[in-house]
Amino acid sequence: MNPFASSLTNCELCPRKCGVNRQAGQRGYCRAGSVAEVYRYGLHHGEEPPVSGNRGSGTVFFSRCTLKCLYCQNYPWSQDGQGRAVEAEEFAIILGKLALEGCHNWNWVSPTPWLPWIYEAWDQAVKAGHARPIVYNTSGFERVEVLRAMENWVNVYLTDLRYADSGTAREGSDSAGYVELARTALLEMWRQTGPLKTDADGIATRGTICRLLVLPGRADEAVANLEWLAETVGPRIPVSVMAQYTPAYKAVDVSPWNRRPTAGEYGRVVEAVERLGFTEGWVQEYETPTPDNLVGFKMSPV
Ligand code: SF4
Repeated sequence: MNPFASSLTNCELCPRKCGVNRQAGQRGYCRAGSVAEVYRYGLHHGEEPPVSGNRGSGTVFFSRCTLKCLYCQNYPWSQDGQGRAVEAEEFAIILGKLALEGCHNWNWVSPTPWLPWIYEAWDQAVKAGHARPIVYNTSGFERVEVLRAMENWVNVYLTDLRYADSGTAREGSDSAGYVELARTALLEMWRQTGPLKTDADGIATRGTICRLLVLPGRADEAVANLEWLAETVGPRIPVSVMAQYTPAYKAVDVSPWNRRPTAGEYGRVVEAVERLGFTEGWVQEYETPTPDNLVGFKMSPV
């Protein structure tokens, strides 16, 4: 049984809890409609090493998003809705194709508005003999009740802690409640999966990985999140510290969002990772981002 089916007529999949009947054509905050929309998919080599492995992660970028980040590098599809409608049957075929191409896992990026369709397609793909571990790739803006329905389904959570201040969260992503919600969601993910487990080839089979994107002028918030993680979850949670912020979308006109974090700001966050004793994780080099080292930019549109 599809645990997300009731959301089709009363969408409360994310903390916005719009309550819209999407089957009847209503659209909520994220503007997601009555058929899943995909912008692009492919084998992706730019995720964390246990997710990408050597064969790549079978990554699917969905259109729409439950946040409105003014610096979103994916805005053509997350905010402007580029992409095309993909029925569950076709999406199941896409999952099968990625599996046949050798992907280590199915990696769904910003999947939350599309959970009912994803679950149905996954069920069809598995029945066709294409099982792969599921990577749930999310901003962290999630409801615990919805996450609970994913227990024993999702294998790996790849989640963010983006802000530690509600004013920044409102300004950056139109979500003043983000801090509490993302931290509560992470605790639920961690409860479900525990520490990272890998197979003989070092590929993630279970676990929760926390990404921290260092934002310009907000390095202190990334440090605060690391301190919260160390104290609340413990230093065994793998952290992925990202230097790739570059102004995009509306951020190009708004200070301090219209610049990259400085090397000094980034260094403060890296220093905190070491000081707090995290034992697993990854730290990006501080370098000018190019299309080749931005997450997701090597793939072709659907
Ligand atoms: S997924 Fe979209 S429509 Fe559903 S509650 Fe969230 S913002 Fe509203």
